Amino acid sequence: MKVGILGFQGAIEEHEKILSEYGISTIRIKRKDDFQNIDKLIIPGGESTVMRKFLIEYGLKKLFKETAAHIPVWGICAGSIILSKKVDDKFNNLGIIDVNIKRNAYGRQINSSIKNIDISKLGISNYRGVFIRAPKIIGFKDDIISLGMYEDEHVFLQKDNIMLTTFHPELTDDRRIYNHFLSI
Ligand code: GLN
Repeated sequence: MKVGILGFQGAIEEHEKILSEYGISTIRIKRKDDFQNIDKLIIPGGESTVMRKFLIEYGLKKLFKETAAHIPVWGICAGSIILSKKVDDKFNNLGIIDVNIKRNAYGRQINSSIKNIDISKLGISNYRGVFIRAPKIIGFKDDIISLGMYEDEHVFLQKDNIMLTTFHPELTDDRRIYNHFLSI
């Protein structure tokens, strides 16, 4: 198995390190050719405006969307923003999942925090999620499954092969979200 990680900026190395522990090879996706022969794709946390700019300016939008149509894709924080069809009440033409999301909704960097998340639908208990300038999920289409809640907020969604978390599993030692992604 080979996992592509969108490689422009953000928490890329953390995923590479963790996936190498599983014996899985990774490739940083920066150009069209890099999309060849990947089995799964990760859009890491970082800065969604920067990733978006690169995807569009490097002419990768079409290939990105075509790839996401047939392999498992996981967007983390900024990555979840890239994948959502509506961002800050505007249509996101990179978006591939019918989610309405609001950027930086918990405040600034200083308001970043670790919260208990309920992921009981996947049989995961006592999960601590790291939120860094995280977005808030405002709404989503009813064919999308919510897998994780922080209080009354949805923080982990999935529809078929597309998964998003507004928290950062790569910043903890807990591998249970990876196990789930790798099982899709
Ligand atoms: N606030 C960032 C954005 O809007 C996301 C932060 C993150 O990925 N940790 O892209």
